[in-house]
Amino acid sequence: MLNEILNRLEENPGSGVIFDLDSTLFDNGPRTWRILSEFARHERRDLIEPMQHLQRHRLPYDLGAICELAVPGEGAAIAESVKGFWAKRFFSEDYIDFDEPITGAVEFVQACHQRHARVIYLTGRDVPGMIIGTSRSLRNWGFPIGVAGTELVLKPRFEMPDPEFKAEAIRSINTHTPNVVATFENEAKNAIAFREIWPDAVHLLLETNWDPKHPTELRETFDTIHDFRMET
Ligand SMILES: [Mg+2]
Repeated sequence: MLNEILNRLEENPGSGVIFDLDSTLFDNGPRTWRILSEFARHERRDLIEPMQHLQRHRLPYDLGAICELAVPGEGAAIAESVKGFWAKRFFSEDYIDFDEPITGAVEFVQACHQRHARVIYLTGRDVPGMIIGTSRSLRNWGFPIGVAGTELVLKPRFEMPDPEFKAEAIRSINTHTPNVVATFENEAKNAIAFREIWPDAVHLLLETNWDPKHPTELRETFDTIHDFRMET
């Protein structure tokens, strides 16, 4: 599927490919793991050991489910006490550098860019709080950024609801890059919006994590990929 997308991009120079960041190009697991470890050290020393044994990658979406993995039976209670500490840090750029790319993501985005695709990063991270850290993280990992043929689109204000932001951004992208060949997301809700405006594109969902409040049936009409490794 990924090779097919590269072929389509090669045949259509200047066409677009859209990438979400969180849980799509990046695994935010190590970011959350780091914050939870700091919480344990500063506030709850009894959690230091369980947090050390917690997996760092591909953590569940929900903080309660993550804490449940660390301390079975106490996930909800721990999540309640760590929520404020976690959110303050997770939604700031101080911890962005702990994110790690999903396997193969850097190479795949580079391959798209080399085929003269327009690489568009579309993320619900906000401009005031996260644009500097986001640019730095993309650059440090080797994603094409800041060069011709790339575009980084963030949410203008933290408070703006994500669906409203993505709907507006999609309309704007469509005016300058109407030929979008592929989109990558972890949330089916966003992929549905992509499919409505670009019905002929390939819309892939990452099998990372996603908001459990959205019905799982929404995912079923999409092809999914575990990561960006290409068959050779
Ligand atoms: Mg995402």
